[in-house]
Amino acid sequence: MHKVLFATSEAHPLAKTGGLGDVCGSLPPALRELGADMRLLLPAYPEAKRVAGSLRAVAQVPLTISDVPATLLEGVLPGSDVVLWLVDHAPAFAREGHPYLDASGEPWPDNAQRFAVFCDVALALARGRTHVAWRPDIVHCHDWQTGLVPALLAPHDDRPTTIFTIHNLAYQGLFPAETFTTLALPRALWSLHALEFYGQLSFIKGGLAFADRLTTVSPTYAREIQTPAFGSGLDGLLRERADRLTGILNGIDVAEWNPATDKHLAQRYSARSLARKKANKLALQQEMRLPGDPERPLIGMIGRLVEQKGFDLALGAWPDLAERQAQLVVLGGGESRFESAWRELQRRYPEQVAVHIGYNEALAHRIEAGADMFLMPSRFEPCGLNQMYSLRYGTPPIVRRVGGLADTVIDAAPETLADGTATGIVFDDATPAALALAVTRALTLYADKHNWRALALAGMRQDFSWRKSAQEYLALYERTTRQHL
Ligand code: ADP
Repeated sequence: MHKVLFATSEAHPLAKTGGLGDVCGSLPPALRELGADMRLLLPAYPEAKRVAGSLRAVAQVPLTISDVPATLLEGVLPGSDVVLWLVDHAPAFAREGHPYLDASGEPWPDNAQRFAVFCDVALALARGRTHVAWRPDIVHCHDWQTGLVPALLAPHDDRPTTIFTIHNLAYQGLFPAETFTTLALPRALWSLHALEFYGQLSFIKGGLAFADRLTTVSPTYAREIQTPAFGSGLDGLLRERADRLTGILNGIDVAEWNPATDKHLAQRYSARSLARKKANKLALQQEMRLPGDPERPLIGMIGRLVEQKGFDLALGAWPDLAERQAQLVVLGGGESRFESAWRELQRRYPEQVAVHIGYNEALAHRIEAGADMFLMPSRFEPCGLNQMYSLRYGTPPIVRRVGGLADTVIDAAPETLADGTATGIVFDDATPAALALAVTRALTLYADKHNWRALALAGMRQDFSWRKSAQEYLALYERTTRQHL
């Protein structure tokens, strides 16, 4: 049985800012069910401590980068039997609010120090340098916040195998060169082949350059990030390590995202009672103060309002689409320029566009269920979860052909409609015109009740549960530890 230290800065329901939180909250329980001995390592954010409930201190961990030792708090990941270890270190994590951003939306100025502390604790556990009588044979790290772990472990002969998963290559943990000195990192790591990235310190490079194996969250994204267009300057390094890199599609939490049991919905439904979905549409129109109309097509969008998600393409396309009399419900938060642009669109089209700025988990569920179709026009998308949620909720997605979107949605072409494999609408160009054309295609299909229902049901039949992906991770653990020894 593999002993896996699973180090992450987010795990739902303890901490979540996006897909990383969803994945790291549901993959460890899925691996546990397959027999892996998991320890989930997470910073002890105040909110994480509250949600975790009962915790006990199991070790004091002296740190190399701080005079204040960290305390390891043990509990369980709620809703599972996965052992949870929270890294309690007041200077780094005892602050309310967002895991990475201060109240004004700027990164906490000491993020490098904070996550270096986290990595330091992971390192001590990986090397058996604590009083905890458990040593992993695999350390599975996620995104830049854990990037120093593979780099710092690499020189040690008695180390566990390291796996680094890229959830989003665009977030790299870049800091000024001086930070490298402040963190007292080994001098050898200041190199083009290690942590230096065009004169800056890059946390993610620690994972990319040093982990024994690299994974990312969809097969298409694994290929894309080896090209300049998607590589964020790291495509060269990723091409060099291509034989170590695989794409494993994320699963979704099928218990949490299940229209038949979803406690947030006005009306629960399943593939067998799809007609009941309509009640959720009327409830959503009412909640968002749009004219209630069961026939008018309702488009949903949820996501972080950042360049990546391509919501601005929808902003640009809406004046062309408005005459189609569709409605659009948008839930998101992020950059203020996008937030105000959406508010402005709502002012111009009050009968058609309703916007909720902010983070609202319950409303996200109600949009997935209440919308007729779901729009996700990302410029790049490592995996994407919302399109899978919408497939499961019988709300066909309209997506760009990138990353995980390309891997999870099958375009409604004459052949795929005929053989029943179509699950949504897929388009290519990242332009308002291409988006408008794709939405128009969706609206035309929507008017054809028979085919639309078939499209929704085909989506609902897809299996995106974690089991299959967890098995792929387990197979990777198996291969890697065998080769590493
Ligand atoms: P990313 O990780 O890039 O943000 P994903 O699609 O992988 O994108 O995951 C996003 C997750 O965050 C989904 O669970 C989505 O429902 C959720 N989410 C994003 N924005 C909001 C919001 N404003 N309110 C509620 N949930 C949101």
